[in-house]
Amino acid sequence: METRIKELVNLLNQYAEEYYTKDAPSVSDQEYDRLYRELVELEEAYPELVQPNSPTHRVGGTILKGFEKYQHTYPLYSLQDAFSYEELVAFDQRVRKEFPSVTYVCELKIDGLSISLSYVDGVLEIGATRGDGSVGENITENLKRVRDIPLVLPEPLTLTVRGECYMPRASFDAVNLSRQENGEAEFANPRNAAAGTLRQLDTKIVAERKLATFLYQEASPTDQATQEKVLAKLNRLGFVVNPHHKTATSIEQVWAYIQEVAAMRDQLPYDIDGVVIKVNDLAVQEELGFTVKAPKWAVAYKFPAEEKEAKLLSVDWTVGRTGVVTPTANLTPVQLAGTTVSRATLHNVDYIAEKDIRKDDTVIVYKAGDIIPAVLRVVMDKRVSEERLEIPSHCPSCQSELLHFEDEVALRCINPRCPAQIKEGLAHFASRDAMNITGLGPAVVEKLFSKELVQDVAGIYRLTVDDLLQLDGFKEKSAQKLVDAIQTSKGNSAEKLLFGLGIRHVGSKASQLLLQEFHSIPTIADAEVEKIAAIDSLGMVVAESLKRYFAQEGSQLLLEELKDAGVNLDYLGQKVVADAPLSGKTVVLTGKLERLTRSEAKAKLEALGAKVTGSVSKKTDLLVAGRDAGSKLSKAQELSIEIQDEAWLERL
Ligand code: AMP
Ligand code: ZN
Repeated sequence: METRIKELVNLLNQYAEEYYTKDAPSVSDQEYDRLYRELVELEEAYPELVQPNSPTHRVGGTILKGFEKYQHTYPLYSLQDAFSYEELVAFDQRVRKEFPSVTYVCELKIDGLSISLSYVDGVLEIGATRGDGSVGENITENLKRVRDIPLVLPEPLTLTVRGECYMPRASFDAVNLSRQENGEAEFANPRNAAAGTLRQLDTKIVAERKLATFLYQEASPTDQATQEKVLAKLNRLGFVVNPHHKTATSIEQVWAYIQEVAAMRDQLPYDIDGVVIKVNDLAVQEELGFTVKAPKWAVAYKFPAEEKEAKLLSVDWTVGRTGVVTPTANLTPVQLAGTTVSRATLHNVDYIAEKDIRKDDTVIVYKAGDIIPAVLRVVMDKRVSEERLEIPSHCPSCQSELLHFEDEVALRCINPRCPAQIKEGLAHFASRDAMNITGLGPAVVEKLFSKELVQDVAGIYRLTVDDLLQLDGFKEKSAQKLVDAIQTSKGNSAEKLLFGLGIRHVGSKASQLLLQEFHSIPTIADAEVEKIAAIDSLGMVVAESLKRYFAQEGSQLLLEELKDAGVNLDYLGQKVVADAPLSGKTVVLTGKLERLTRSEAKAKLEALGAKVTGSVSKKTDLLVAGRDAGSKLSKAQELSIEIQDEAWLERL
């Protein structure tokens, strides 16, 4: 039996490799499935014979409870940055002072997440994230679902390797398309998508999302003499090594390579954000050593945010959920950071005036980090017409007159019956952080609205299978599924409903706080403004907005209707905040943080339940101190207040 199991494992692995990496399967899908089922049955019958490299490890879905911390045996480091040729020259001079005839290896800087893989006697034992470099998270189960990571090495070696896990652009597009169809928020970029996927608790989703890896480092002591040889060794062991790497004997050669990479960047099937330059000779690396946080033998050249010229063809004005009318530029298509861009935001009507953007202008578009493409400025030399852009005076959806309030940069449609606003509001209501109705995305909402099947959120709860069957794209099964999802949403805890109503200034966090305090939506509707405003961090703006909303007759009727439909209006109490590790603690931040920005650190502390204040006093429970902390630190020491650092915060 063991022989047959091994045979099946080898065959299936070979077919999978043909399929996934060479795109040339040598057997039919049916044949593959047949062998796969045979293996599953044998493994069930003889669990002690399950092979460590069995393909069944890659697909089986398990729901993980969470991720355990993992203490890295060999810490992961970050890299010093360079943003210009001059900075590279300075790096080169520092190295050459000690090693005049140094050779570098240039590698692509893959825009994904660092991973660490540890093998014991050739079998993958631990796959972990970087974390703060010394403590990461154990995500072995998820990494086993990444197809190109070997579960077993061709030799029984014990070693730890490092590399980058990323989402190829094609997978990214597919994932976002399906999220869009399901009414879920799209990922901003492949990096975020990869990060979100690796932290998934449902391993099946990881398997579906098609992540990939490039390995570039042997973290445990190596028998190789140079970085080039390490890459060759990793390749021999079955890891995917990025094919684009090059040795250079001078910084001019490095620079020439960077130009080459910049030119081909758009054609790569994955995102990169720079080029990493490493000293090739590992003995020289060792001599050069490390600064506090980064090796002295390497530098990461980062590409500037990409900017391109495009011609402005026209402007679309769209109405959002809150009535804000937003301009989007239609442009001649340009390649930007790997994607074709033909639309970019113009932000708002005041932005157009401020940047003096006119008809047929040539403009600069850019895309930096998470930001969606935006118009940066006009190329004035290329202006062909003085004619101004047409600013709409009436709503493109309902034709009512648009208002430009003095304290606002945007135009606004204030008609509560405006179809565009209603549609956006319905999609928001169904979205994940609100009522979380899978299958009710913008496209389905559009169809429902145009067939007049749904006019307001209460209408969603009157939908039947027969109604849905009138829409194209729906069959008995899918219609039933959506109706079921709608029914399920009735039982949500009420903060999801409150957020879903789309009341101005009432976000998901405020909704949570409100329901923790008042326990039901009707109680909030009846509460005094002062009482609401007094809730920690909410304030008058939120309170008055709620009052205005519930004062409308329509809102009261809507609540009645929802209640009659069986929608829950009570808080079902997941006391997220109360159970948080820092709940009830008053925390102060001071000093320079290395990895988090101030506001990120503050947000993180608040998410953990802490109240963040500006100065140290007897009421302070905890001080988080970064580098060069001054008087607050000494005051905290005087008062014997607990003091922690950034790494501690990141670990929490
Ligand atoms: P930074 O996050 O800017 O400090 O850059 C360091 C990170 O770059 C590392 O943690 C790796 O995740 C990532 N990286 C991507 N490609 C490479 C590469 N070829 N060599 C080293 N690090 C890389
Ligand atoms: Zn309107």
